[in-house]
Amino acid sequence: MSRSSRVSIITMVDSPPPLAPFCYRNRCENGAFGTLQGKPTAQVGGTQLASRAVAKPTFRTPKGTRDILPGEADRQRALVNAFGEAARRAGYGHVMTPMFEDLGVFKRLGESTDVVTKEMYDFVAKDGNHYALRPELTASVVRAFVQHRPLIPWKVWYEGPQFRYERPQAGRYRQFSQVGVEALGTDDPGIDAEVIALAWNFYQTLGLSEVTLHLNSLGDRTDRPAYIEALTNHFQENFDSLSEQSQFTLQVNPLRVLDSKREPDQSVIDAAPVMVDFLNGETAEHFAGVRRVLDQLEIPYEISPRLVRGLDYYLRTTFEFVSTALPGAQNAIGGGGRYDALAADLGGPDTPGIGFALGVDRILLACDEEGVFEAAPSLVDVFIIDVTGGDQAALLGAQLQTAGIATDRAYDSRSMRAQFKVADKSGAPLAVVVGEDELAAGTIQLRTLQGEEREQISVTRTTLIEEVKKRLT
Ligand code: AMP
Repeated sequence: MSRSSRVSIITMVDSPPPLAPFCYRNRCENGAFGTLQGKPTAQVGGTQLASRAVAKPTFRTPKGTRDILPGEADRQRALVNAFGEAARRAGYGHVMTPMFEDLGVFKRLGESTDVVTKEMYDFVAKDGNHYALRPELTASVVRAFVQHRPLIPWKVWYEGPQFRYERPQAGRYRQFSQVGVEALGTDDPGIDAEVIALAWNFYQTLGLSEVTLHLNSLGDRTDRPAYIEALTNHFQENFDSLSEQSQFTLQVNPLRVLDSKREPDQSVIDAAPVMVDFLNGETAEHFAGVRRVLDQLEIPYEISPRLVRGLDYYLRTTFEFVSTALPGAQNAIGGGGRYDALAADLGGPDTPGIGFALGVDRILLACDEEGVFEAAPSLVDVFIIDVTGGDQAALLGAQLQTAGIATDRAYDSRSMRAQFKVADKSGAPLAVVVGEDELAAGTIQLRTLQGEEREQISVTRTTLIEEVKKRLT
């Protein structure tokens, strides 16, 4: 009998219901992000635990942290992969540093930086050393640069969780993820524009359109003192109008007062002198060079003369990306700038550097708001139905996976009917079916699970992979 004569077409009378759409804003009972409902993975077709078993968990995620469940976690991974690919194409190598460092590494971020003074998860370990969970990655990357002295320019990208003891709210967590790049060893304005363009184009790739790039130059160590003096005088003259917090910040770092979002400070900040009026010839020329390349690349930006950002180390080019789709308080989806003094501060040679970090969690919130980047569902290719006990499912699963085919199966020796139900819900386009007859004959049934017309074909074990692949392309 020819192979084709063994093919039968089954017309579906009762086709399975389409999968529920992804719902990324689904919050689970415990505040986790995920898609228990509508998630086209095996769990979707799985069995729900009795609600009594999960109603009152003994332990929950610590405040300000969340579980990111399958579906949303796959989407986050897809975002990181897309970023890594974009960075690789621009000549950046992947770097991975420890999640904790000597506390001193982060103290270099500046004594007036909230991240250092209030938000650090620091601890004395059993070895007596004082460490901190990383609140950001620039300091760690620059520490790695100083430690390993790679060839310059050193262009690297990174991804991973950061830890800040902040007051949690929507879009602000105590553990959150960032992707970013750092480029050390050159202050060519072309690299400033390159890193900015990398971030800008990445947002475009995701489909985000409601993003504004704010750009500023904070001057360098020669022109900044005159500006700081003018700024200090301005704030001193308006001291009584400032909030209590800003009155304090003024004593430590007048620049950081510009970063205040507190209402009473706004009119004083609006009237403050701006750094761009104080730039010396060299920094002004550098800033003009950055803008020229951005113009050439047709990347739109707004000059924001009061943009200082939260970390103290920035000099010259500074930038921030804001999503106008997100509510005001937590609408920054990324930012960065030049930190030409940081390598020397960390004990290395004088080395200019520039980089950015983008907030993964907030980017995905912005994607939700704009209805973009709904990552492809991670469906399996084949669902294995084994009614001979389960050993065949294990064997065939291993063979198919080795051949690069994603598989799933049912467990607990369930009935053929029950297994088909799970297979239908899994979203897999194909089912591989083994019953006692097939086991005895050394054959396997291959069935299509999607579409109006269902095909069923009997294949031999040796041709299984070839037949599956043929139907998956
Ligand atoms: P920064 O390292 O402070 O320059 O932050 C870079 C980006 O990380 C910000 O623009 C946010 O998108 C994101 N980010 C910073 N802090 C948090 C946080 N606590 N929770 C979520 N995202 C954050």
